Amino acid sequence: MDHFDYQQGEIYVEGVPVTAIAEQVGTPFYCYSTETLVRHYNVFSDVFRGHDFLLCYALKANSNQAIIKSLANLGSGADVVSEGELRRALKAGIAAEKIVYSGVAKTQEEMAFALEKGILQFNIESEPELHQLSRVADGMGKVAAIAFRINPDVDARTHAKISTGKSENKFGIPWTSARAIYAKAAALPGIRVQGVDLHIGSQLTDLAPFEEAFGRIVTLIEELRADGHEISVLDLGGGLGIPYDQAAEKPPLPLEYGEMVKRIVGHLGCKIIIEPGRLLVGNAGILVSKVIFLKYGEKRKFLIIDAAMNDLIRPSMYEAYHEIVAVKDTGGPLSAYDVVGPVCETGDTFAVRRDLPGLETGDLVAIRSAGAYGAVMSSTYNTRRLIPEILVKGTEYAIVRPRPSYDDIIGLDKMPKWLD
Ligand SMILES: *Cc1c(COP(=O)(O)O)cnc(C)c1O
Repeated sequence: MDHFDYQQGEIYVEGVPVTAIAEQVGTPFYCYSTETLVRHYNVFSDVFRGHDFLLCYALKANSNQAIIKSLANLGSGADVVSEGELRRALKAGIAAEKIVYSGVAKTQEEMAFALEKGILQFNIESEPELHQLSRVADGMGKVAAIAFRINPDVDARTHAKISTGKSENKFGIPWTSARAIYAKAAALPGIRVQGVDLHIGSQLTDLAPFEEAFGRIVTLIEELRADGHEISVLDLGGGLGIPYDQAAEKPPLPLEYGEMVKRIVGHLGCKIIIEPGRLLVGNAGILVSKVIFLKYGEKRKFLIIDAAMNDLIRPSMYEAYHEIVAVKDTGGPLSAYDVVGPVCETGDTFAVRRDLPGLETGDLVAIRSAGAYGAVMSSTYNTRRLIPEILVKGTEYAIVRPRPSYDDIIGLDKMPKWLD
């Protein structure tokens, strides 16, 4: 469920008509619903009420300051994968003690910055990374609290580009060699072992891979404790999927996921961390775009809109499905369109043979479920300006990232003196 519904034949975001925003800010733009975000957060915090629990929002899904702040106000922590994201989390008011630092390879500078701020945990993914953190922390007279990201060798059964928990993926420590690396870590200066971490992939639409992976981790934690390690934090990662295609996909509800987590790992007495990204923001956002032209090819009818792959890359990168709807539903007969952007690549296609009501130049469409991995993955390819982000709360809305000017973009380039 979300808060993008038709009222009197046109889409409202909570109490605001999309057309009113489009008139003020122009198209294309991203638009987010606070109410949807809050509801998603609360489902998780309700399931884990009474447990030692921390939700660490995975910033990489959508790192707009206003989104982070909306979640921070509810008590959210953060999962970050770079110094930039760490800075964003801190700036939006998330306390360092609620921040975990994930990612395949952190640089010395990034480690030093995070140590200086005093974050909750580093999730370490390799032995060289462990040794580097030990050196950096020891050199600063600090102790880094760590977990190892364990690769449980479980097939997440999701798109290959976002599957991370198989032994052939670059992520984590193979679960078969976990005990050896924990033993090494325990002997290193500047390191305090406190937890176990995993993240097996994104957009999982089935609980079974989670269950299998979490089961392996339970066994591992029992072994690590028997080896004398104090394991008090269990970070289960993110990855729960959302229904991009409402008619075809029925991913597990956050409630079902939470109940499963409690059943499998609840008895360990660990602080439970989860790192959802997509689930919180995915369905809390839409991309609004305007029809530039209709073009009749020999075999296809193309709806060319003013948003493109540089604004939302998921369809071209992951063959992702996004629902596309007319902002004003005329109720007329449907016909099949290929919905494409103006960028010079065939991959710049949002949908093929999609049924939509009759549309004309100037009409608005909304690409749904665009709140996660949308704005954050956008670029200025084709010297197209980054598109604005709008946050709605009730009957109010605000521009939370303005559209840059062309001078802003071109001005980033500098002439060398021999050309000036
Ligand atoms: C990407 C990522 C997440 C969030 O994944 P979602 O599928 O958006 O929930 C969480 N943890 C780690 C380590 C990640 O890389």
